[in-house]
Amino acid sequence: MSLLGYRCSACEASFSPDEERELCAHCDANLDVRIQLEGIERESIERCRDPSLWRYAPLLPVAIPGIEDGPLRTVGGTPLMRADRVATRFGMVPGRVWIKDEGRQPTGSLKDRASAIVVQRARRLGRSPILTASTGNAGVALAAMARAAGIEAVILLPEGAPAAKIAQLRVFGARLCLVRGSYDDAFRLSKEAAAALGWYCRNTGQNPFTIEGKKTVSFEIAEALGWRAPGWIVVPVGDGNIITGVHKGFAELLALGWIDRMPRLLGVQAEGSSPIARAWERGDAQIVAGPASTRADSICAGDPADGARALRAVRQTGGAFVRVSDASILEAIPALGREAAIFAEPAAAAAHAGLGAARASGVIDAGEEVLLLITGTGLKDVGAAGLALEGQPPTIDANLDALRAAISTAL
Ligand SMILES: *Cc1c(COP(=O)(O)O)cnc(C)c1O
Ligand SMILES: [Zn+2]
Repeated sequence: MSLLGYRCSACEASFSPDEERELCAHCDANLDVRIQLEGIERESIERCRDPSLWRYAPLLPVAIPGIEDGPLRTVGGTPLMRADRVATRFGMVPGRVWIKDEGRQPTGSLKDRASAIVVQRARRLGRSPILTASTGNAGVALAAMARAAGIEAVILLPEGAPAAKIAQLRVFGARLCLVRGSYDDAFRLSKEAAAALGWYCRNTGQNPFTIEGKKTVSFEIAEALGWRAPGWIVVPVGDGNIITGVHKGFAELLALGWIDRMPRLLGVQAEGSSPIARAWERGDAQIVAGPASTRADSICAGDPADGARALRAVRQTGGAFVRVSDASILEAIPALGREAAIFAEPAAAAAHAGLGAARASGVIDAGEEVLLLITGTGLKDVGAAGLALEGQPPTIDANLDALRAAISTAL
């Protein structure tokens, strides 16, 4: 527990920890949470037997939940694995391509990290209900974590959200409204509602604590690699909050002296929702909002809530942005399944497609070390996987001849 206060990411104005602020009072930019880093010992973390994100409690701005809080205690601790066949596919070196599989979080996406921290914050403040706009996963994660803490959650999704995400939310008992329009419309409504009704708002980027959860994925990566950063980390980008969190996590480890250099960040946007990538290509700090459309619903954000910080994170690390087509995102779903035994939702598979694009354009060289951040499970959107697969499995009579005939043609 080490909350020092907040600093504006644009004008650098400081705010005290007692001030409950979302965006900067002067310029409306996103706020960075300041953490007291002095005096934290790496050994105390290494000795901790808890594999969840709470092992990094000294670096977090909220208190650890109790064991009676069940699911809140189980977030984080996802596997990091070698992906040699992915390396081979992209002409890279086996042993130098890694995957971090966030599909194995309690609700199946990296968003659980953010929601766990935000719920602990809301608890500390005694606030209920918690409101969020979401493309799906943030809402699902908030519904589960709020329920674990006995707090009401109100979620606004765009009406076209995948059925599995809607079902997950409803199973967890959140109050769900499907908003006519896009995620950007739901986001605008949630801001208005939080202000008018006085509800605590989890909105990605707008609530400074979402980053504090997302940064823990970097702590896990660094610790798993023996306290160092991989050469590159490939991150699918919608609002830009995950990539900003990944950056903050490594920046804190660098400030502590626990790692000796930052990773380079590769942000991946879908062609039809790429305002941050386009600003990067123009060499501009200005992000131009507009309508967004992509099958990768979790990265569909035309007016990104954390675009400026995402741009800065990529620039500061000597990284890059790439844009990928929906067709290449869908192709990446069975590719990841076959090469790494991972079933990813479209936004998560975009990391694989993005590595392909970065290899083709020469942004990433054959010998470099790369980690793909797989942000959510494919079980959340089996329809997308269906689009990516050709043909249908045969239906056969229950006898050996039928099986022989079917398999001889299928193999
Ligand atoms: C939210 C999400 C992203 C993108 O994160 P941003 O913070 O919006 O950039 C990527 N993949 C999945 C599966 C997500 O749920
Ligand atoms: Zn400011």
